[in-house]
Amino acid sequence: MLQNIRVVLVNTSHPGNIGAAARAMKNMGLSHLVLVDPVAFPSAEAVVRASGADDILAAAQVVSTLEEALVGCSLVLGTSARDRHIPWPLLDPRECAVNTVERAGQGVQVALVFGREYAGLTNDELQRCHFHVHIPSDPQFSSLNLAAAVQVLTYEVRMAWLAAQGQPTKMAKQENRPEVDAQLVTADELELFYGHLESTLIEIGFLDPERPRHLMSRLRRLYARSAISRLEMNILRGILTETQATARGLPHKRRSE
Ligand code: SAH
Repeated sequence: MLQNIRVVLVNTSHPGNIGAAARAMKNMGLSHLVLVDPVAFPSAEAVVRASGADDILAAAQVVSTLEEALVGCSLVLGTSARDRHIPWPLLDPRECAVNTVERAGQGVQVALVFGREYAGLTNDELQRCHFHVHIPSDPQFSSLNLAAAVQVLTYEVRMAWLAAQGQPTKMAKQENRPEVDAQLVTADELELFYGHLESTLIEIGFLDPERPRHLMSRLRRLYARSAISRLEMNILRGILTETQATARGLPHKRRSE
């Protein structure tokens, strides 16, 4: 079950932090590490700081975009040391871990995403997340070392996982639900939907690409909150396709059939 949880490090500058994050993960029983465009990797310094968790480094997946790192994930949690422009559903590490373990127990792929040492995650990257997670540090000095932040979250995941061992009933009941309506959409499917939604809104004149304001961000936040199932996504995509057809003056699909 812990294998369904991946730790994603975005554009890390210091290879030592990658090694220390791998060590933190291995201590807590996690093994799936994804590196998005690391500045220096592989690296001897990472291996030194991993101190024995080099198997995790060796198996790490290296990709060039966050989008690739999130393929197949239906729950994406992005960590942030500070408040952002658009407030997003926010969890503390404990709530994050309970959610993560519950979903992973249902077979859902979950991603815990960590940002750059100097700049964190961009707004764009944070908007790909269902929830934001903030470690309640002192607001006067809120930013933890990257690997320390990984340690806090993975520790909470382990605690939630240990607690769940004692009470498997709820998770066991929800496991293996094959119905399409119970399957959550993945991050990559959601991105395709957002692309479709944006182009449709531009086409019908609701969204002005010259003055987008925060419309797409707000819509992303709305849908991120909704835990959309595959069936629901198909309905939404169908509505967009029909909207576009109508805007283009094409015959109505049902009528033309
Ligand atoms: N200057 C950056 C700090 C980045 S710290 C900023 O203002 O965002 C590097 C990474 O460690 C962050 O992107 C986040 O993934 C994690 N991190 C550090 N402090 C954190 C905190 N208090 N809560 C959650 N994540 C934190």
